[in-house]
Amino acid sequence: MDISNIDSSIDAIVMKWDLFKKAPIGVYIIQEGRFKAVNKEFISYTGYSETELLQIDPLDIVSESFRETVKKNAIDMLKLQRDKPYEYLAAKKNGEDIWVIEVVVPTELQGERAAIGFFMDIDRLASDSVTDALTGLYNRRYFNNNLKAESERSDRYGSHLSLILLDVDFFKKYNDTFGHTEGDKVLSMIGNIIKKCIRQTDSGCRYGGEEFAVILPQSDIDSASLTAERIRKCIESETAEFNDGVTISAGISQYQIKQNLSEFIKNSDSALYKAKESGRNCVIQN
Ligand code: GH3
Ligand code: MG
Ligand code: MG
Repeated sequence: MDISNIDSSIDAIVMKWDLFKKAPIGVYIIQEGRFKAVNKEFISYTGYSETELLQIDPLDIVSESFRETVKKNAIDMLKLQRDKPYEYLAAKKNGEDIWVIEVVVPTELQGERAAIGFFMDIDRLASDSVTDALTGLYNRRYFNNNLKAESERSDRYGSHLSLILLDVDFFKKYNDTFGHTEGDKVLSMIGNIIKKCIRQTDSGCRYGGEEFAVILPQSDIDSASLTAERIRKCIESETAEFNDGVTISAGISQYQIKQNLSEFIKNSDSALYKAKESGRNCVIQN
């Protein structure tokens, strides 16, 4: 793409507001101290309706103590005297404050000066970066970091730590029979069941495609087995009505102080392998 004409094409971009409507970040156009257009994502951040946003003073969505700095930063950006995004506490309609990061760029709207703002909820960004979108569980990156942190805590305090690995049985066949979309729905159901069956201090993660992991601090292998068995039963009964239903197999091991983490994971994984070998739909300890 030739971007040499990008400045002169900004009006065209504004006319293509449709492009911004679906953007995964908040976007607005502001002119003469009023919002002229706001996309869905921006509306959801603020908690105001679209009509309300078009009527309020844009500074109403800025927490009071930040209004002066935000105004100054925005003006500096529009004068091209600042190019770094700025952070501030935004005030939602319900009174809640959220940390956001924002940039504004100058543009023209119907021949008059205007600005486009891009806006992101920092807390949501942080939570998205550790969450698996399909299941709502933690993602693999979080799994790696959390397992390391928990093993270090065990090394320091001598506390128990266990790891459950779960894998959906014959999931390839399930996909082949009912389709990938139905398969995705099952994975999402499993995510909810895992969350429901574990303690708040445990971490339920999507380890890979149809594989899940639960990190259980302060749990020995027997109490981790009870949790795994609860998850197994729940998945079997709650998915039964959904097409043919699915079952899972699980393997568990307990962390040994100063153990190498790959070895710890491998121990749960070989227990899982044994569960598969023993006919599936069961929980095996290593
Ligand atoms: P086993 O009981 O031995 O685990 O058999 P399996 O069929 O579950 O194992 P296999 O590893 O052969 O197949 C895993 C299947 O999981 C294949 C793949 O298409 C499916 N899968 C992985 N990730 C996803 C996903 O995100 N969505 C859906 N729908 N399917 C997925
Ligand atoms: Mg698998
Ligand atoms: Mg499988």
